Amino acid sequence: MKSAKVFNDSFQHKGMRRKLIETLREKGITDEKVLEAMNAIPRHFFLDSAFDKIAYEDQAFPIGADQTISHPYTVAYQTQLLQVKRGEKILEIGTGSIYQTTILAEMGAQMVYTIERQKKLTDLQENYYFKNKYLNIKFFYRDGFLGLPTYAPFDKILITAAAPFIPPKLVEQLKPGGLMVLPVDEGENQRMIRITKAMDGSIQEETFDAFSFVPMLGGKNI
Ligand code: SAH
Repeated sequence: MKSAKVFNDSFQHKGMRRKLIETLREKGITDEKVLEAMNAIPRHFFLDSAFDKIAYEDQAFPIGADQTISHPYTVAYQTQLLQVKRGEKILEIGTGSIYQTTILAEMGAQMVYTIERQKKLTDLQENYYFKNKYLNIKFFYRDGFLGLPTYAPFDKILITAAAPFIPPKLVEQLKPGGLMVLPVDEGENQRMIRITKAMDGSIQEETFDAFSFVPMLGGKNI
């Protein structure tokens, strides 16, 4: 049997993390609140201990069920575009390792509602101590294309998988004045898009850099 993971944030880990934050700064991340939250959260806690020494490289790593934890730069980039403010209600599609989720929670979201479609990954979350540490996270095993109508509307919506199109149900569940950030398919890779819903309900779309995400798929996987 695999032994229980030890959550130890050593001096070395903290040092590697500070270096990663400097790399993110050099790559153009300027939002201090995003950098602070990423400096506060030990990324190696979300990975198998086999990745302990390389957890702070700007790379994606496998997390099971053929999925990956996003690159730190991608996490920083999406979070910066989302302009997170304290007290907001945020919907995240693609919980994966919970790394991105805890960053949104650490930044003071009133509640982060996060959806994952891979049963295997939601089971993994049961063991994670983050569930007790961040009481402002609610986990759902669902199809993210449908969102969470019961809890809508949301101030912010973040999709962390490559969407084939802008999911209409999620646009519906965005508050007037709200923002949604998502990578949308463009063949080989995806284009980062930010949707702004104006107070009159009209939609404005901005286009940013290209990225490479795992696909956003419909339905649940057992
Ligand atoms: N934010 C995650 C990124 C994980 S990769 C992290 O930091 O680790 C993207 C995740 O989106 C995968 O776990 C994948 O299973 C999930 N996903 C894909 N399509 C989905 C859907 N329709 N609903 C919910 N989750 C989905």
